[in-house]
Amino acid sequence: MVQIGIRWKLAVIFLTVILVTLFSTNWLILNSLETYYLKGRETNYLTYANIIAGTGRDYLIHGERHLQFLARDYGKQVGARVLFLDDRGKVLIDSFSEGWLVGQVLKHEEVTAALKGKSGTGLHFLSTGERVLYVSVPVVKRKQIIGAVLLSGGIDDLFEALEEIQQKILFLSLISALVAGFLSFFLANALTRPIKELNTVVQKVARGYLHQRVKERGRDELGMLARSFNTMSAQLEKLDRARRDFIANASHELKSPLGSIKALAESLIYSNEKDPAVYKEFLGDINSEIDRLNQLVQELLQLVELEEEGGELRIQNQSVLGIIEHVLKLAKPLALEKNIHLSGDAPKELSWPLNHDLAVRMLLNLVDNSIKYTPPGGRVQIEIFEQDGKLVIIVRDSGEGIPPEDLPHIFDRFYRVDKARARETGGSGLGLAIVQKAVKLHGGIITVDSRLDVGTVFEIKIPRQNAM
Ligand code: ADP
Repeated sequence: MVQIGIRWKLAVIFLTVILVTLFSTNWLILNSLETYYLKGRETNYLTYANIIAGTGRDYLIHGERHLQFLARDYGKQVGARVLFLDDRGKVLIDSFSEGWLVGQVLKHEEVTAALKGKSGTGLHFLSTGERVLYVSVPVVKRKQIIGAVLLSGGIDDLFEALEEIQQKILFLSLISALVAGFLSFFLANALTRPIKELNTVVQKVARGYLHQRVKERGRDELGMLARSFNTMSAQLEKLDRARRDFIANASHELKSPLGSIKALAESLIYSNEKDPAVYKEFLGDINSEIDRLNQLVQELLQLVELEEEGGELRIQNQSVLGIIEHVLKLAKPLALEKNIHLSGDAPKELSWPLNHDLAVRMLLNLVDNSIKYTPPGGRVQIEIFEQDGKLVIIVRDSGEGIPPEDLPHIFDRFYRVDKARARETGGSGLGLAIVQKAVKLHGGIITVDSRLDVGTVFEIKIPRQNAM
């Protein structure tokens, strides 16, 4: 089936409305004109007929010669045939002086009406095709109907005039219809052009060309649609770029431990080393690179998992102190190893709606960082309490701090303040991204405050409800 575009549909609708209006108006005008003209002619005839009847009544019975003149003169004036009839409808005088009609009894409706005292009018078609108007009025003398006057005149001139008007109107209508047709088409075109453009661009975006934008014209619905579309495709493009960056970064991060492993393995394969101690040392290095890889993959998986978690987070009331104890237990070995004083504190009774695993993970990541970036002998402290209806989690350390220019970026994926230092400490730059994601899933926010060589404070605030 052939698809008809909106443009054509609109044009046809416009044109139909215009044509219907045009022709019904024309019909009304012509009809009114016809009635108006006919009525005018009728009134004219009636007036004359009455005058003739009034003037002729004194001669009707015995003044035939006089009546003849009267009929002829008035007939010429009016442009109609004038007949005088007696009280039974018999023709006494004919202004046309045609002998055959005189003496005949007329039975026309108009005449019958006039002989009953009422004036009568009517339209008749002659056998020649001519249209004539009959008007008849009674001739009254001393309250007695003594006869009637009948006026008959052709009205074809009237219809000719009407026809002329009709032709002019038709001509004008045709021109108007033509102009209206063009205008409808152009209007429909102008209205649908933005839709067409949008459609083309949407199709391109659907095929993956995300940088496409449409022109944002006007403030109407189409303009709004264009703006929404542009916002949407910009968002899509951003997401797409983020996805590419993520893959590129992840591959890059995976590449360096893999490169080390490959270099270590090759140097063992191609050397003539006989000493098992050297093998053992190399294998130990390979093993720690594998640990790094493992950690990285684990963090990547966690991040993906968090992205997917979205709405269906299992949230239950948790004892806050319980979570702190869990984290302290996990972080203790590292703290001991680095000789860092690790402590945690929270009100005994305080419990909060949280996802247990996520809460432990975010706290552990923060504590892990604090231990990693604090020199031996320093302190790391966890504090949790309720304030203004929110759960406040604070992780404070006396470590090296974060340079102010790096602070806005530390929650970005793969961001590390000092690449070399991070390599040493085994960081991937994903830890804080995971923490931030987990906080957001709880409907909370995380902020950081840090001073170089003084220490860093992370603060998380989680509302009781609104957990996502
Ligand atoms: P990483 O796995 O490298 O630790 P994170 O996302 O956890 O990655 O942290 C990003 C960067 O922020 C780290 O590389 C580190 O430079 C800095 N950072 C995080 N926590 C601290 C802290 N407590 N003290 C100093 N620097 C920190």
